[in-house]
Amino acid sequence: MGIEFVTVRRIVFTRVPALMIPEGGKSTKPHVPPRFVADAMLGRLAKWLRMMGYDVTFRADVDDVEVLRHARAEGRLLLTRDRLLARRAGSLGVLLVSQRLEEQLRELAERGVIQGPLATTRCPLCNTVLVALSRAAARDRVPPYVYQTQDAFYECPECQRVYWPGTHWQNVQATWQALGWSEDEP
Ligand SMILES: [Zn+2]
Repeated sequence: MGIEFVTVRRIVFTRVPALMIPEGGKSTKPHVPPRFVADAMLGRLAKWLRMMGYDVTFRADVDDVEVLRHARAEGRLLLTRDRLLARRAGSLGVLLVSQRLEEQLRELAERGVIQGPLATTRCPLCNTVLVALSRAAARDRVPPYVYQTQDAFYECPECQRVYWPGTHWQNVQATWQALGWSEDEP
């Protein structure tokens, strides 16, 4: 059966909230979302960034050399808490200080590396962009209670998992709001 969570294109953020312009930042250039690779210690951050729509590759079983090679080969920003690894990645290195997810997101936001959630969301498990799933199609793929109480469903075309807005989504929203992001911005 599916997995509770998700970000929903229709409730979400189709624009960059004004609050997300980095402090002191004057640029009004459209934000081209960066692509990331997360090092083996940052799996939770990787999942959250995917839920926000960012393209994040992550594998827990690869070493620093491989992560670095992958970042360079694909031009991905390398997210790490390892100072040495960040230095070795040069301009692609993004050193995070905090061990806490919310603080890590804040660090990225304050530096303008991310500017809030994107219009689409990705499967937190495999990084594929989710697509809408009709309610009828979701019927036999989610628990009856979920079918009765939810009206938006999404599917990962790669791993076939089904998602719907749930407590994870509420957590994501609460985190956005704590960071000063809100879909209610004018
Ligand atoms: Zn998937």
